[in-house]
Amino acid sequence: MTIHLARRGFLAAGFAAASVFASARKPLVAQMPNGPFSLPALPYAANANEAAIDVVTMELHHGRHHAAAVAALNNIAHDYPALTTMQIDDALMRLSQAPDAVRTALRNNVGSHANHSMFWEIMGGQGGEPGGDLKAAIDRDLGGFAKMQTDFNAAGMRVFGSGWVFVVVTPAGGLSIVTRPNQDTPLMDGQRVLMGNDVWEHAYYLRYQNRRAEYLTNWWKVLNWDRIAARYDAARNGTLRM
Ligand code: MN
Repeated sequence: MTIHLARRGFLAAGFAAASVFASARKPLVAQMPNGPFSLPALPYAANANEAAIDVVTMELHHGRHHAAAVAALNNIAHDYPALTTMQIDDALMRLSQAPDAVRTALRNNVGSHANHSMFWEIMGGQGGEPGGDLKAAIDRDLGGFAKMQTDFNAAGMRVFGSGWVFVVVTPAGGLSIVTRPNQDTPLMDGQRVLMGNDVWEHAYYLRYQNRRAEYLTNWWKVLNWDRIAARYDAARNGTLRM
């Protein structure tokens, strides 16, 4: 029995590590030929966020943590085919209708896929400040850009354990700063996610160890405000899905 458990542990560890490499995922790929879910490519080089996030953290976070959630989603879809025809935000809004056997895994892995896909999208920039309609909304609802940063970072510090801090677009069209535990997302409550930062330790521990405040501060240096502004426009015209 000891040997059996050891082998299982070895295999589980090997599977997690192998998820980085498509060529090592043959059993999974054979099971679900075209996904339906796939890991989005980073829209920049893995070292593009060095001002805040080191390249090893980027590669592990994207190529292993997010990839593991995508692999889990494809396995869930095999047992729950209805998932393949749902939009991500619809799946998150309708968790209560999912079969008991998959509901928790759906919540964690659909949430992770939505959160991380958003996270990669909004980085790779040079920081700075937003302009236009988004700046006006931040001034109106969040007290201006400097106060938004201060309040967002403070909210990120208050997340106990693992979770996320977001700026959301509410159904009424206003901006608000919110946090969620684990891989939960405001999409579950019908809000749109404008932007968000991952405060799980895997997001920052290699460079910052326990210094989450420093990570939160540096993160603003790599934001891409053009892409965040595009998300704001999409949220307002109803086309932002995750
Ligand atoms: Mn993460």
